[in-house]
Amino acid sequence: MNGVANLSLAAESGIGKIAFIDLKAQQRRIRAGVEKRLQDVLDHGRYIAGPEIEELEERLALRTGARGVAACSSGTAALIIALLARGVGSGDAVFIPAFTYNATANAVLLTGATPVFVDIDAATFNIDAADLDQRIAQTRAAGELTPRAVIPVDLFGAPANYPAIAEIAAREDLFLLADGAQGFGGEMNGACVGNLAPATATSFFPGKALGAYGDAGAVFTQDADDLERWKSIRWHGTDGARKDSVRIGFNGRMDSFQAAVLLEKLDIYDEELAARRRIAAQYDERLSQVGRPQQCEAGAISGYSYYSLCVDDRDHVVAKVNAVGVPTAVYYKTPLHQMPAFAHLAPQGGLPATEKAAREIFSLPMHPYLTPDQVDYICSAVETAVR
Ligand SMILES: *Cc1c(COP(=O)(O)O)cnc(C)c1O
Repeated sequence: MNGVANLSLAAESGIGKIAFIDLKAQQRRIRAGVEKRLQDVLDHGRYIAGPEIEELEERLALRTGARGVAACSSGTAALIIALLARGVGSGDAVFIPAFTYNATANAVLLTGATPVFVDIDAATFNIDAADLDQRIAQTRAAGELTPRAVIPVDLFGAPANYPAIAEIAAREDLFLLADGAQGFGGEMNGACVGNLAPATATSFFPGKALGAYGDAGAVFTQDADDLERWKSIRWHGTDGARKDSVRIGFNGRMDSFQAAVLLEKLDIYDEELAARRRIAAQYDERLSQVGRPQQCEAGAISGYSYYSLCVDDRDHVVAKVNAVGVPTAVYYKTPLHQMPAFAHLAPQGGLPATEKAAREIFSLPMHPYLTPDQVDYICSAVETAVR
């Protein structure tokens, strides 16, 4: 995040200091309830597998419409658990966008499988279905890897093009796993992220739209068999009695304290989501004139973990708005296929839409406690910087 040193300028204009994400304002609101919930954990002493875990899993299933939910230690653990449960591993190709956080690629590589990078759609910044089709065909033709899975990412909270990807996955016999780490709260044709794919991983990292006070994640399923395997894998691959090892697993559990925090935050989540959408609408209305805000797929509504847009002279615009006290972030300046750890997997010819977005994109403050005046101020700062 940039611009922190210059926040006083915005403060002087009478609208208060603008935060990129304001966890403190949220905490002031829920502090008493969180303390009560944490005290309950201290009192019962079941720090692992306390009653909060099942309560949270039920609440998340109810909220999303998923058949089952397994609370996990992180979003990365959630992705790995879902892949291991389907036997994804060495010799398998897993198709992922390169315009995402490194965890999407790390999860694939840690199973022994190989990520195959797919380009994005220039308007939605999410995996491009036509390019996915091509890369599956190329992978089959090369004959070295077996196409096994596809992991679309709900970038910035906007659901990926699930109808098109599900059709390809069915035709090509691929496991469709959604990386909804940023997607919680998003919807498509009336269904929620968590229930848009056979399996969905999400993250409750503190800065995500629904965040714990530490690391946490979850994986959502439309299938009851998956759930049983996931609960085993997250507990060292043990059986229902948590004794004998029946498969390979690891410690991928969420702890009771994190579940307690999340339960308290879920109570205000829908109200916060409505505020995010109001703020995004205010941004869209003004900034569509001067930049290219992220578009949603047909039928989709974003959960707005982040509000991102493309402009021609990104670094100049970012410097100008930072200078007047508007903090920004650039997700992602370097796409995965250009990072040292993954460069050996870069496709020939690169990924043109991904590389263009990486040059043009930036994110503006997005949290439910931004005031309309602050959003106005931010929009004016961007307009001035672009002109
Ligand atoms: C945050 C994030 C993850 C990883 O989640 P953690 O809880 O930090 O492990 C995975 N994928 C994407 C797209 C993310 O943004």
